[in-house]
Amino acid sequence: MLKILETLPEMRFSGSRWRTLVTAKCLRCGNESTYMQQNVVKHNKKGRTHCGACVADMHHNLTGTRIWRIWRGLRWRTRDMEDKNYGGRGIEVCPEWETFERFYEDMSPGYSDDLTIERIDVNKSYNKANCRWATNMEQQSNKRNNRYVTFQGEKMHLAELVRRSGFGRIMLMVRLNRGMTADEAVADAAASAYGKSQDPKNIRRRERRMSMT
Ligand SMILES: [Zn+2]
Repeated sequence: MLKILETLPEMRFSGSRWRTLVTAKCLRCGNESTYMQQNVVKHNKKGRTHCGACVADMHHNLTGTRIWRIWRGLRWRTRDMEDKNYGGRGIEVCPEWETFERFYEDMSPGYSDDLTIERIDVNKSYNKANCRWATNMEQQSNKRNNRYVTFQGEKMHLAELVRRSGFGRIMLMVRLNRGMTADEAVADAAASAYGKSQDPKNIRRRERRMSMT
């Protein structure tokens, strides 16, 4: 946040329009500097907490730290077109985060050494709105391969469907991947002549599980 201290006379930059200059103070580090008024307004509107002096200082101090390595890591992953979970799938980093300074400005609030960066929507790219710091456990439950299905009108994790239906994960997965709904997949698996699904013991176990809520 920059606080305008004084408005200076307008100045003209390299033949362009006249711009109002101001002196402003960074409320974080106390550094006073001359800015174009419009840039100060933009800076505050975007909720930026660090001025140029803060950023220069930060960059110097933070290279090699964990948060810096996280930033470097996500850039690598998204640039690697061979990586089918990131770059190869079109997951990008927003242009603002091309520099560590902006990434730090956006993401340092809420950061802690035991948290990892997570995309809220795993099909969307890395940007301020789609990223948050999460514990490893929260992160695992949001992985793309942890799919959700709707079974008997209830949205649940695939693991929960496996538990409820009593059928194996693979048995359900091949059916879901064929385009069946969870209800169809369970019904089809139950009708299957293969595997252990027709063993009376397993039928009883399955019925018991499916009656549980
Ligand atoms: Zn500052």
